[in-house]
Parts: sequence; C-alpha cells; structure tokens
Amino acid sequence: MIKKIIDNVYLKKRTLKKVIAQFKYVTDKNNLLSSIIANDSKIKNKKILVVAPHPDDEIFGCGGTIKKLSKQNHITCIYMTSGGPTLQKMEYPSPEIIEKEALKASEIIGINKTIFVKLENSKITFKKNDKKTMKKINKIIIEIKPNIIILPAFLENHLDHSATTQLIINSYLENYEAWFYGVHTPISLPTHIIDITKQINVKMNALQAYKKTLLKDPMPKAIISLNNYYGLTKIGKGWAEPFIIMNSTRARELIKRI
Ligand SMILES: [Zn+2]
Repeated sequence: MIKKIIDNVYLKKRTLKKVIAQFKYVTDKNNLLSSIIANDSKIKNKKILVVAPHPDDEIFGCGGTIKKLSKQNHITCIYMTSGGPTLQKMEYPSPEIIEKEALKASEIIGINKTIFVKLENSKITFKKNDKKTMKKINKIIIEIKPNIIILPAFLENHLDHSATTQLIINSYLENYEAWFYGVHTPISLPTHIIDITKQINVKMNALQAYKKTLLKDPMPKAIISLNNYYGLTKIGKGWAEPFIIMNSTRARELIKRI
C-alpha cells in the first residue's frame, strides 16, 4: 500500500515536470507551429520507424497515420515488449498470442517489417549505464537508419512509454524527424494534425486484430473517440491523429530537460 502511494506521488511529480517542459517548448516563439494540418502526401520514399512500447500502442497512437504513409514509404515497427506481468496485475494472454495478434494488426495497417525487442513488460528503464539495452536499441536503429521515427510522447504518463522515448532519443542516430504520439496522455498542444478520416475503419479493424490482448479493455473506444475529437476540433470533420513534430537535435535537447 505504502509503495503504491509512493509510486503515485513519484508519477505525479514526474508528470508535473513534463507538463512544464512541454509548456516551455510550445510557448517558445520559435515553435509556434500549433496545429498545422500536415501535408502528408509530400512524404515519399522515406524510411519510417514506428516505436511501440507494447503491441497495440502503434495502432492506438498512430494507426491511421501509418496506413496513410504506408502507400509511399517503407514502415518498420519495433515492439519493445511482448506482454507479461503488469504493474496493475492485469491478466494478459501469453507473449506468443500477443505477438501473433501484433503481426495480424501490422499486416492490416500496412507495416512492412516488424521487430520484437522482447524487453521485460512494466520494467523498461533508461539508464545510461544499461549498456545491454542501449546496445540492442542502437543496433536496430542504426541498421534501419530511419528518416522519421514515430514514438511515444515525452509526456506519456506510463513508465514503459517514457523510458522507451528516452532510449530512442538517446540512441546514436542523428538527423531524423521525431514524431511524438500520445496514448496514455492526450497530446494537448499538437504541432501537426493528420487527417485519418479515410483510414479510420482500417484503424478499427487493426485494433480488432488484438482480440485477446484488448479483451474488455476500454481503450479502443476511448482512442477512436479522441481521434474524433481532434478531427472535429482541429480540421472540422471526421477523425484525426495529433503529433508533436521536431528534429532529432531539438528532441534530444528537450528530453535532457525532463
Ligand atoms: Zn503501452
């Protein structure tokens, strides 16, 4: 019980720090890009890396965008974990079932290549001296050399998600665009909006591929409603996915402050 209270206080403290960092970033006069409708049709022949701390995050956070970009770009998705015990002691299917569902969802959404990193669920950490994990991540990323990395936002109120962001941004890779998506914490001040009205049904189908993983989970409904909210409020129609986009140098500077 005491541990639970300490964990909650720790999370709140971290979240507050992150909110302040995001506020400073978006109020910086050089970054007043708020809510640009991204011209995604111009994104062609790029190597795009999508990073999912857990299988399903790639669909929740950016499934519609993946589908849209998959027509003219090569998309790789890395899944940091493949299920296992959670902090909330929720019951999940075996890693084999989760990976099978992830493969089905990835096929539906247009991902070209999938990689399971197999880190321990609920225990992803970022420590500069954790050479083994950093080496693993660096090897994967340097081999892919993506032009764009789509990854969880630095504001995510979930330790696996925020540690994933740190691991990726602190990798050796330079000169790429970082697109931050939200799952556990909605992006309150997006810099870019992608219209996914035409892709929303495919996104819903991909979520359904996670039949056993998301059994009784309220998230699919919540995320689709949230996409509807961004669609109606930012582009006046349908469904949309919000992102905070910046270059990798700036992303690294920002992450250092968090
Ligand atoms: Zn997750």
